[in-house]
Amino acid sequence: MRKIAIYGKGGIGKSTTTQNTVAGLAEFGRKVMVVGCDPKADSTRLLLGGLSQKSVLDTLREEGEDVELDDIRKKGYGDSWCVESGGPEPGVGCAGRGIITSINMLESLGAYEESEGLDYAFYDVLGDVVCGGFAMPIRDGKAEEIYIVVSGEMMAMYAANNICKGITKFAQSGGVRLGGLICNSRAVDNEADMIEELARKLGTKMIYFVPRHNDVQRAEINRKTVIEWKPEVEQADAYRGLAKAIDENKNMVIPTPLEIEELEKLLMDYGLMEA
Ligand code: ADP
Ligand code: MG
Repeated sequence: MRKIAIYGKGGIGKSTTTQNTVAGLAEFGRKVMVVGCDPKADSTRLLLGGLSQKSVLDTLREEGEDVELDDIRKKGYGDSWCVESGGPEPGVGCAGRGIITSINMLESLGAYEESEGLDYAFYDVLGDVVCGGFAMPIRDGKAEEIYIVVSGEMMAMYAANNICKGITKFAQSGGVRLGGLICNSRAVDNEADMIEELARKLGTKMIYFVPRHNDVQRAEINRKTVIEWKPEVEQADAYRGLAKAIDENKNMVIPTPLEIEELEKLLMDYGLMEA
């Protein structure tokens, strides 16, 4: 089983991209569990057809320790398993606790056992590197492979670089590796070339370029992934492509973060270039 964590700045498209990719993986027969690690608990909405999942923390609060596997996971599109770890009320407490509680709970209830037949576990992590929640899934080998969702916007690239700094810390002691950058386009000038260059400097690859398209919102208001909503549209093929790229990826590295000056130069070089 591959254990994958998805990182990136808040609002960059982690939850959207994760769920659409999971739909793509499910289409070619992969068995996937998605664990939402954001207190917003919106990591599985598109797979479940709505925000119908009670979080692990809420379940524990309401039902005590006597919890069964099927109290905390629900079946979503393509036979995916959906879990939301939940979190504290906004502004109080650390989001990281919910994540570690959930993963431990899933482990002790047997969700990762071979008999479950999982090919993938995806952790959709919150974007804030400063919070303790950041490191949770990549500590102790809970997640082994990381993809960073990024765009050509400065703050997204800045966050991606910071996340790489975080990864290097855990990569040296543990086994966690960066699998690549996923460019979720914001239609910035020379975006694909710039993110490819950023990836090269980080010692990794841009494994896929996901175009920005309104069909993502159209599917979203129907509470569906694009593949489930309209399997024939181009954006559905984009997510199939990303699913395949992840499925076939073997390029795992310890990233080499950039100095801030180097990052700013990259932005200027590509930003000032003729589009
Ligand atoms: P995150 O989980 O990183 O905070 P979300 O996945 O919630 O971000 O995405 C934020 C918004 O961006 C969503 O409402 C989604 O509709 C939109 N979005 C994400 N990716 C795309 C895309 N490729 N094209 C159009 N809209 C997108
Ligand atoms: Mg999210």
